[in-house]
Amino acid sequence: MNHQRIANWAPIGAAVLVGWIGIEAQKPPRALGLDAPATAFSAGRAQKHLARIAQAPHPMGSAEAEKVRAYLVTQLKELGLEPSIQTPYSSENPARNVLARIRGTGPPGRKALLLSAHYDSVAAGPGAGDNASGVAVILEAVRALLAGPPPVRDVIVLFDDGEEIDFGGSIAFTREHAWNNDVGVVLNFDARGNSGPSVMFETSDDNGWLITQYAQAVSHPLATSLSMDVYKAMPNDTDLTVYKQANLAGLNFAFGAGVAAYHSPHDIPAAMDPDTLQHQGQNALQCLRWFTALDLEKPHAPGVTYFSLFSRFVVAYPMTFVLPLALATAALYGLVAAWLVVRGSTLREILAGAGLLFLAQLAALAILTSAYMIMQGINITRSSFNQEPFHFSHHDLLILSVASTLAGLATISIYRRLGGMSDWTALCAGAWLWWVVLGCILAAIAPGSSYFFVWPSVFGLCGLAASRKLGETSLRARGAAFLGSLPALILVLPLLRTMFDSLGLGMAAPIVGLAVLFTAAILPLVSKGRVSQIAGLPASTLTAAP
Ligand SMILES: [Zn+2]
Repeated sequence: MNHQRIANWAPIGAAVLVGWIGIEAQKPPRALGLDAPATAFSAGRAQKHLARIAQAPHPMGSAEAEKVRAYLVTQLKELGLEPSIQTPYSSENPARNVLARIRGTGPPGRKALLLSAHYDSVAAGPGAGDNASGVAVILEAVRALLAGPPPVRDVIVLFDDGEEIDFGGSIAFTREHAWNNDVGVVLNFDARGNSGPSVMFETSDDNGWLITQYAQAVSHPLATSLSMDVYKAMPNDTDLTVYKQANLAGLNFAFGAGVAAYHSPHDIPAAMDPDTLQHQGQNALQCLRWFTALDLEKPHAPGVTYFSLFSRFVVAYPMTFVLPLALATAALYGLVAAWLVVRGSTLREILAGAGLLFLAQLAALAILTSAYMIMQGINITRSSFNQEPFHFSHHDLLILSVASTLAGLATISIYRRLGGMSDWTALCAGAWLWWVVLGCILAAIAPGSSYFFVWPSVFGLCGLAASRKLGETSLRARGAAFLGSLPALILVLPLLRTMFDSLGLGMAAPIVGLAVLFTAAILPLVSKGRVSQIAGLPASTLTAAP
């Protein structure tokens, strides 16, 4: 292999590797069986609870719900606790909460940790994921906690009723139960599917302290402030909404893959992924141990934007940094563009680069529309893009993967063909304009999501400038382009994968649109070289970039 071929392919190979590692890292940990140590969380043990709870649909007020309640009372007694049933004051509210309290070894009168999961299901299905999983996870995590040294702070266990109908259970707890005043922090467990990793997808406001603690508590953190903005735009709510309205500080955990089963007859115990249960349970137990050792009197601190990397680290910084950072990125963009113009690029080429990305988005829409017409023709799915109600099918993953890949290839092809003899670096700089503008708009309207566009832009622009200085197609230049593309690879690819699973075809247009944006971010990896290098040579003698 000659040097140029290595220079062409090595950074692409490295990019594929980093992307693959990022996607693999967010898979849930392997489930532990019945033989796991007593102090560990075991998905195998939790699954036994889950199978009992999700035998049949058990909506609020049903005879099945009564059976589930009796099972929960028995299980809490077996753990050595004294369960009680909360009946709301109003006879109009049929919710029946199941509660228990673990006394901590610390001084009395200090704030307690609330573990909360709703035990009712929808009438349409048995609710294995939503939310027998949350209840089973708490039962097994409390068992594992009590098998070790006792907690310092009190733990309140709340299995609430009626979440699927009107949040009657959690509302009754916050308004009427005496223990509500003792709560310092709440951890809520819920689900929107039956597989995938456990995501800490929502916090209460002023979350600086909570995020710092969460980052230290769990071994497999998976969280981003972006999910809060996405979640706000969706019609769903959970009990944490009720707790937040009651001014409680808290974290919300859920998994969202396998969403085809959500609120359907297919949400059965056999379909529940044990690895997912393990991840949700590990998060529960690790947070349970961590937070009960802390002082929970002051759980509020100024808000932060945050994101996990490789399910190992959590990056967090104050929300007040978001707007200045976005504006600084815009300034950096101006500098790089000016520097390129000084070095011989034209403003026209940069704007052409931005325009080509618009064309690429149109091409992606055309690909999606044809895919949809083909699917209708062969009757794979009756769903339509971006229309309520969402219809998830098991074909979603395949269709979205193929459509996103085709859209990415179309993007590269549009830049390489329509870009003609233009300066490649200038075209790439034009593509970055979209990223920078999106980062600035989001900093103003959805600040928790701005980082997602800002960090890839900062690194990408620096990588682009370095690559230009080093000659674009040399190994060192491509190495610089690769380093510049790292945040895009690490942040965007795992999120795209998550979107395939948890949003499905109903959100195909934004998903494929993001795939196009991502491709634009890695264009420097497939540079054709500069006009000045190739002037006077026929196009076919260009270095054979892939
Ligand atoms: Zn639920």
